[in-house]
Amino acid sequence: VVIFAGAVAVLGEVYGDLLRAAGASERLMELLATESPVRSPAQPLAAPLPEGGSALAFEDVRFHYPSRPAQAALDGFSLAVAPGQTVAIVGPSGAGKSTVFGLLLRFYDPQQGRIVLDGTPIDAMDLQALRERIGIVPQEPVIFSSSALENIRYGKPGASDDEVKAAARAAFADEFIERLPEGYDTFLGERGVRLSGGQRQRIAIARAMLKNPPLLLLDEATSALDAQSERVVQAALEAAMRDRTTLVIAHRLATVQRADRIVVLDHGRLVEQGTHAELVARGGVYAGLAALQFNG
Ligand code: ATP
Repeated sequence: VVIFAGAVAVLGEVYGDLLRAAGASERLMELLATESPVRSPAQPLAAPLPEGGSALAFEDVRFHYPSRPAQAALDGFSLAVAPGQTVAIVGPSGAGKSTVFGLLLRFYDPQQGRIVLDGTPIDAMDLQALRERIGIVPQEPVIFSSSALENIRYGKPGASDDEVKAAARAAFADEFIERLPEGYDTFLGERGVRLSGGQRQRIAIARAMLKNPPLLLLDEATSALDAQSERVVQAALEAAMRDRTTLVIAHRLATVQRADRIVVLDHGRLVEQGTHAELVARGGVYAGLAALQFNG
């Protein structure tokens, strides 16, 4: 990611590290790299950390990227999510799915409307405190050149080895880590042991579980895994979503079927919402997408 150095300069090393730690995807890193004018308020509000997941609301959000004033990436977008719910976001390429995540993380502020997390508008919260509430499982998790233990510890710097291993177990990552030549001390990354797609995803899920945020943003991988890893990754995700609020950019049939609600975006607008069965029966945009996109 060419722009990473710039990103760090713009938002400060802490956020760059935080996001890298969370394994932010290139897409999110791109968002991070743009000259974002967002600032923490002088006297930030601090809502208490909720148990059982965050309450989240987008209220009539309108946003265009600074470089494209004529094109709304989100257009009158409203969405209320109750604590512990899982909402799947689907829609064609360019519909605005990643933009929802980018605004939540305050890479940008909307031009209109607001986003409220646990009762506090996010632009009234300290930026770092906001991002501490949010865990990210990216499409293509970054694996660093360090041990398996350190790779997971990025989710919560300073966590004890026992905490790291507990998160690995919860994310079904320990079963493959234990079988690596040196277990948790095995060196990963470019010059170490290369992991499979499903293993990288479980490392990212373990990082998120170690961080233990009330809100989880999941950018589901598009590339198919073999049936066995698919099952394990699904089980790990299910564990990660328990007792937290989850927004997932969904590409898997299993994910949309399990979601409490699916919202369909098209050209920045929420065009349909409901369960998988409801939306298929409706025969609209979702039904068309589902027929093409979801295989499971
Ligand atoms: P995909 O499924 O391809 O990832 P998406 O639904 O996540 O797409 P977004 O990435 O949110 O869509 O993009 C919404 C719109 O905003 C698109 O028209 C896109 O081209 C535009 N866009 C996204 N990022 C930027 C950016 N950094 N600068 C300018 N325009 C952007």
